[in-house]
Amino acid sequence: MSVPELDLNDGRKIPQLGFGVFQIPPMETAKAVREALEIGYRHIDTAQMYGNEAEVGQGIREAGIARKRVFITSKLNNGHHEPDDARRAFEQSLTDLDTDYVDLFLIHWPLPTRYGGDFVTTWKVLEEFRMNGHAKSIGVSNFQVDHLERLAAETATVPAVNQIEIHPFHQNRSVKAWGESHGIVTEAWSPIAQGRVLDDPTIDGIADRHERSPAQIVLRWHVQKGNVVFPKSVSPDRMRDNFEIFDFDLSDEDMTAIDGLERGEEGRTGPNPDIFDRV
Ligand code: NDP
Repeated sequence: MSVPELDLNDGRKIPQLGFGVFQIPPMETAKAVREALEIGYRHIDTAQMYGNEAEVGQGIREAGIARKRVFITSKLNNGHHEPDDARRAFEQSLTDLDTDYVDLFLIHWPLPTRYGGDFVTTWKVLEEFRMNGHAKSIGVSNFQVDHLERLAAETATVPAVNQIEIHPFHQNRSVKAWGESHGIVTEAWSPIAQGRVLDDPTIDGIADRHERSPAQIVLRWHVQKGNVVFPKSVSPDRMRDNFEIFDFDLSDEDMTAIDGLERGEEGRTGPNPDIFDRV
């Protein structure tokens, strides 16, 4: 099954489906990455915060797939927003991943209540990484509309992506819409709400009609919305299930029914980026 690619605003492309490794313990990560690559995934989403970049690199090496065939994303950890810290942490990511470039590097959280609220200086350091070719594309994660507006006003580079929490219970519509109207691709983290949406009767009803799993229905909803997704699983059966979402379509009625599951702030599985400040 071939995974579509989406165009980024810097001329590069990103596979719309990837594999996320948040909360996969380092001891299990190389195996999970290897299995995902064997199934056909060619996009891995990791982060300095996840503590498993070295094992991601190991999994890719063990799979024997050429580096240039795999799209690798990593993210700057919250304790490293000061420019020299960011440069050192980025070098360490490259060393740990055993590569001389990442395809995409993100500011993981805006931390508006830390560093004097100055994520703009941090963004300018990511611009350096892109200029010197060690990050092919750069973007942000968990940025709200006012954070994106500030980057647009004060810097020259529009983020290629904004990686934000999106799933049927928390659809983050205003942030996604702002990104879309400014050429920013939306990446949906926790795309199945860490499993919480899978027992929903509306989703289960659609799954029964299509003879698909609830996870496939929700991931297909994301794909038809134009989101990039990278569900996490340590089970090869579920990895395969999550990969097989490009051979069926949801109807307009199905899409509208899932849109109707929005719960606003109550639907979040993770923290609100306006107040999240853990370093
Ligand atoms: P997901 O929404 O991907 O859900 C993962 C959970 O669902 C796991 O418990 C997994 O269990 C289970 N699961 C996966 N597939 C299936 C399936 N087909 N059927 C039933 N259960 C399933 O949650 P994540 O929070 O991991 O989000 C995905 C990725 O998003 C992360 O790995 C990370 O890369 C990124 N992320 C980014 C954040 C950010 O701040 N930028 C924050 C959070 C996530 P099992 O492993 O046992 O199969």
